[in-house]
Amino acid sequence: MRIKVNVTLYHVVFMASNALAGFMEQGFRLGLTGTPGTGKTTVAEKLGGSGIAVDSVVSLAEKHGCLGELDPNDDARPVDIESLFSKLSEEWGSGPGPQVVIEGHLSHLLPVDGFVLLRCSPDELRKRLVERGYSEEKTIANVEWELLGGAWNEINPNLPIIEFDTSKKPPDAVVGGIVDWISDGFKPESPSSAIDWIERGLV
Ligand code: ADP
Ligand code: MG
Repeated sequence: MRIKVNVTLYHVVFMASNALAGFMEQGFRLGLTGTPGTGKTTVAEKLGGSGIAVDSVVSLAEKHGCLGELDPNDDARPVDIESLFSKLSEEWGSGPGPQVVIEGHLSHLLPVDGFVLLRCSPDELRKRLVERGYSEEKTIANVEWELLGGAWNEINPNLPIIEFDTSKKPPDAVVGGIVDWISDGFKPESPSSAIDWIERGLV
């Protein structure tokens, strides 16, 4: 893993205008993941404004020839995630990485160093997806995925992870939380317990 942080230097740099520049000794690649509608694109755009480089699964897939043709049934272009994983493993395997957050609901399936997982209560998620114009079938599939824990089911548990409830936290607070987590050297390495909508009775 390439994550290493000089926290002492961070405090000096924090007083400068860019909270992140220069304090990380080495690069990191974080997957910003979550069920569609949880707020990844919104957070990624705002993160970009706070001095963190942002990329996306779609643009990486396009660059590496892993993006299929538009599927008219669901208005999305399929990503060949296995092929992208192996191409990026090869490319990223050599040399220090950049400091970058990669946005996309498949980003946790890429060879990243850690994860930011966005969650959203099923009721709020349903509203967001209906507003987006998703079909009933696609909305239900995504809400069910979120109910069952979303990306938690696919994430490598040995890497740092932080989770945010975007039905409670506005985008700026999520961005602040991500910046703080990076600044603290990805501590805590994982939440004490994952959000469980079923346990909370929000079903
Ligand atoms: P994703 O990229 O994960 O599919 P988006 O960023 O497109 O999600 O957000 C989906 C919808 O939810 C948008 O209408 C956005 O304005 C809203 N949204 C995103 N994040 C939040 C948040 N933290 N609080 C409230 N609404 C949010
Ligand atoms: Mg998006």
